[in-house]
Amino acid sequence: MIRQYELVERVRAYDPSADEDILNRAYVFSLKCHGSQLRASGDPYFAHPVEVAGLLTQMKLDTASIVTGLLHDTVEDTVATLEDIERLFGSEITRLVDGVTKLSRIELQSDQTKQAENFRKLVLAMSEDIRVLLVKLADRLHNMRTLHYLKNPEKRRRIARETLEIYAPLAERIGIQRWKDELEDLSFAELNPEARDSILTQLARLRSEGEGRVERVVEALRQTLHEQGLPGATVSGREKSVYSIWRKLEHKSISFEQLSDIMAFRVIVESVDACYQALGIIHARYPVVPGRFKDYISTPKPNGYSSLHTGVIGPDKQRIEVQIRTQDMHDVAELGVAAHWAYKQDQQRTETREYRWMRELLDILEHAQRPEEFLEHTKLELFQDQVFCFTPKGDLISLPRGATPVDFAYAVHSQIGDTCVGAKINGRMLPLRTQLQNGDQVEIVTSKSQTPSPAWERFVVTGKAKARIRRFLRTQQRTQYIQLGRALLLKIFRREGYDFSDKSLDGVLKIFQATSTDDLFANVGAGLHSAHEVFNAVFPGHKQTERDEKTGLPTVRPKPKPKGKDQPLPIRGLIPGMAVHYARCCHPLPGDRIVGIVTTGKGVTIHTIDCETLESFSDSPERWIDVAWDIGSNRPENHVGRIALVVANEPGSLGSLSTVIGKNDGNITNLKITNRSQDYFEMLMDIDVKDAKHLTNIIAALRATPVINSVDRARGR
Ligand code: MN
Repeated sequence: MIRQYELVERVRAYDPSADEDILNRAYVFSLKCHGSQLRASGDPYFAHPVEVAGLLTQMKLDTASIVTGLLHDTVEDTVATLEDIERLFGSEITRLVDGVTKLSRIELQSDQTKQAENFRKLVLAMSEDIRVLLVKLADRLHNMRTLHYLKNPEKRRRIARETLEIYAPLAERIGIQRWKDELEDLSFAELNPEARDSILTQLARLRSEGEGRVERVVEALRQTLHEQGLPGATVSGREKSVYSIWRKLEHKSISFEQLSDIMAFRVIVESVDACYQALGIIHARYPVVPGRFKDYISTPKPNGYSSLHTGVIGPDKQRIEVQIRTQDMHDVAELGVAAHWAYKQDQQRTETREYRWMRELLDILEHAQRPEEFLEHTKLELFQDQVFCFTPKGDLISLPRGATPVDFAYAVHSQIGDTCVGAKINGRMLPLRTQLQNGDQVEIVTSKSQTPSPAWERFVVTGKAKARIRRFLRTQQRTQYIQLGRALLLKIFRREGYDFSDKSLDGVLKIFQATSTDDLFANVGAGLHSAHEVFNAVFPGHKQTERDEKTGLPTVRPKPKPKGKDQPLPIRGLIPGMAVHYARCCHPLPGDRIVGIVTTGKGVTIHTIDCETLESFSDSPERWIDVAWDIGSNRPENHVGRIALVVANEPGSLGSLSTVIGKNDGNITNLKITNRSQDYFEMLMDIDVKDAKHLTNIIAALRATPVINSVDRARGR
């Protein structure tokens, strides 16, 4: 185990200005926190964070990262809290420790490897600071190095699979080839020890057969190139990693002997011309392996990689792979590991943003003067527009930022979205409008009787959820419109003395451009056509009811008098023989205080006393006559009352509207929607009522109905 002074010395070796005090305090704090805890190996637990910190010093990371390495398990595994860390080490380190702790928690979700790509994105999204990811990778590397101590083989395999599919690619992505190779090799050793052993044996055989082979080939190639006119060419060679050899064997179905690129050699020359010259020299000197030549200089790979690749039977009569490139091309190849990885993994080319980010990251890594500078500038901005959440089974669901449990439910399945009634987020019941966070586990509570609510539309963010909710509401609303339209038509037919059946409308469907009877009902219910228009189209000969020019609604319809034409109106104070009209502006009802206005040649118009229209007659008091309802007349006659309503635009609202009016013995005779918005309808409605009190009762009942926002007598409309 690395001693306290050793760790400090390691950091000071590359960063003489490092804060020794905080390193010492973190070392002691972690030691105290982990106390007598033991690792599966039997070592004190404290050895683990110290080794992690040690790995981070190899990467020459800043003091905050090393301290985070020392403290990374204290919050999750000991009594220490984030508040303690904050108090003792400040906010920057607290943020980093918190980040690593959160990453460790999402690891506990089951079976992420099924969705490796998403899980990698989640890890990146949660590592808002690249140091969090670096500490996490060091943590994983040390855990992999000590994996064999775990007794449970299932657990060992799970961790190894996860490492191979999630953490090794992440290490490669941020350019730490060394960690990537080691993570892969350790996972491979756990998952397929036989294959690994056989490759190692074969490599050992090759090595012993040709002692110092790599060096000999390098030397032979260099000599050839120098003699043939390229004195500036440099040559290097290496053995490929066991796991990458295995991948090749796996994917190319070739035998070990056929594998030409166990040894890879690289030639770097000064210019593009020199690349082709070097190729010519090598091809002239050694037999070419057919099908191995690739010219990525004339046709670079989509990620910008360029080089010449060829395969020849090399100086020691074995197949070798040779890559030829300039220093510039080499830099691009090295900086572009992430892009290269994405390319190899056959990702869709949608990752240009990630690619650019990687380039910038690696550029800073290469060119930053000091490690702190690199770290300070490298906040992970990847996937900041996404959140990743888990189902209770551990499936990962990726959503846009701002998504809610309703979005989540629809993303899982439309049916679950349609029937969701509540959500448990990380085990707690929370409102459906709650915005989800990375790593949240979401359990949707459903009920068969639930249907999508129009309120959801205001907070969902995914297109799928929006579309499903809207479609459902449209269907629902249409049902309401159909019911209402049908009821309106039924009433007008009965009132005018005709039987009503759906069939009677067949002949007029075309006139109203309706495709079916339901379609026509829906249009009437929605106020696109009035019931009167439809009735008049069915019976063109029927006496037209007088219509209000402004609203298109029929005005008061003179009822057929039960006892002949001399039946007096229920109004006292009228001048005998003078025609009487009810005003279209205020629709006076028995019980209203009324006044008559005389118009020469037209007769008397009855207004309610508070009608706004009366103002225009204030200069001609001679036209006013005092009238009153004949309350004692007790006529069974109905009058038209007009009301203005604002109703919530949601399923069921029109239904409850007509139900309330029906229950109160009102009779809707006409309806006109005057304004329609996302949330509300404004409408005018004519109702047959006995008198003003009757209408007041209906209005009161409507006001008590939740979907109705406001109701009033319509005056001056
Ligand atoms: Mn750990």
